[in-house]
Amino acid sequence: MAIKKRVLITGGAGFLGSFLCESMVERGHDVICLDNFFTSQKVNVQHLLSHSNFELVRHDVTMPIWLEVDEIYNLACPAAPGHYQFNPIKTLKTSVLGAIHVLGMAKRCRARVLQASTSEVYGDPREHPQTESYRGSVNPVGPRACYDEGKRAAETLFMDYHRCHDIDIRIVRIFNTYGPRMHPFDGRVVSNFIRQALQHEPITIFGDGSQTRSFCYRDDLVRGLITMMENTESFCGPVNIGNPGEFTILELAEKIIEITDSRSEIVHEELPTDDPVRRQPDISLAQEKLGWEPTIDLATGLAETVKWFRSINMSDYRPPTPNY
Ligand code: NAD
Ligand code: UDP
Repeated sequence: MAIKKRVLITGGAGFLGSFLCESMVERGHDVICLDNFFTSQKVNVQHLLSHSNFELVRHDVTMPIWLEVDEIYNLACPAAPGHYQFNPIKTLKTSVLGAIHVLGMAKRCRARVLQASTSEVYGDPREHPQTESYRGSVNPVGPRACYDEGKRAAETLFMDYHRCHDIDIRIVRIFNTYGPRMHPFDGRVVSNFIRQALQHEPITIFGDGSQTRSFCYRDDLVRGLITMMENTESFCGPVNIGNPGEFTILELAEKIIEITDSRSEIVHEELPTDDPVRRQPDISLAQEKLGWEPTIDLATGLAETVKWFRSINMSDYRPPTPNY
């Protein structure tokens, strides 16, 4: 095994964070999972609690925290539109104050720190596919701005700490990711469609379903985060991590109906404000700098996700807790 590191994962009980915690525990590192359980629950990390190299800290990243660590993965932030718009002011505080607190910790501990940024920094993109040099088209006053602008401000803070204090930073722009442990009621398209299909309820397509997304399986994504963190070159990003396979939302619905052998019908509902029309990562930079690319196609990843959704008890999951 490589050197044992003290690794802090904020948002570590969430969908991606819990799988990252699991991967780091398996590698033998000392893992601190920090979470306020706003959009997650303990069930996601319950299986890790008996490991001596895993520690769970209930904390809110908008408050300062003092820990001794070697690496920080900053994932704390609600990610699903319904979750981040639930309390938009808190979402912005989480991105901005959370970034300031982990960067301060990285400065004091001389730790390397990775920011889980997002394809939402490109807004409703006018360039397709999106490369890292594209500066984006975000509506700063719309309902998605609390998330998009929060993540953009966090990227700014990361770059400024890097330039001013020589902090070893990594910025990863994550594109739509799905897989086991998604919150079944988070309102994201994959979780909604699978839950609806399994219950033979109507599949709710917002708009005409011609909008596109590119879906990356969780395991590929988390491998991308770890590869970026462990890369020994001085490459700090931002780098796109996602699966370039682009599908319309209607195609996604049809695939899920087929995989689940569902009797669900498709219904159309109003398209949310500022819903991006097209999204697809250009991953040339990740391929060149990290030798990373996804390996799991949509059909395979959806089959695994459906298997997990069939196995869970929906009552273990609850809506976000109001927290101001
Ligand atoms: P998630 O909602 O499952 O995980 C986020 C975690 O952060 C949750 O456990 C939540 O309780 C915690 N959290 C929220 N606010 C907090 C606070 N103030 N203090 C402490 N903990 C807090 O979402 P996810 O899909 O696992 O996303 C993880 C990260 O990846 C997020 O930063 C998100 O913006 C980013 N990301 C995810 C996707 C995706 O498709 N899954 C895409 C782009 C970016
Ligand atoms: N969507 C949909 N039906 C749903 C949930 C989402 O048609 O029940 C659409 C949504 O309008 C968007 C796409 O699916 O165009 C992806 O939505 P999601 O919330 O998963 O993520 P986004 O990429 O928009 O942040």
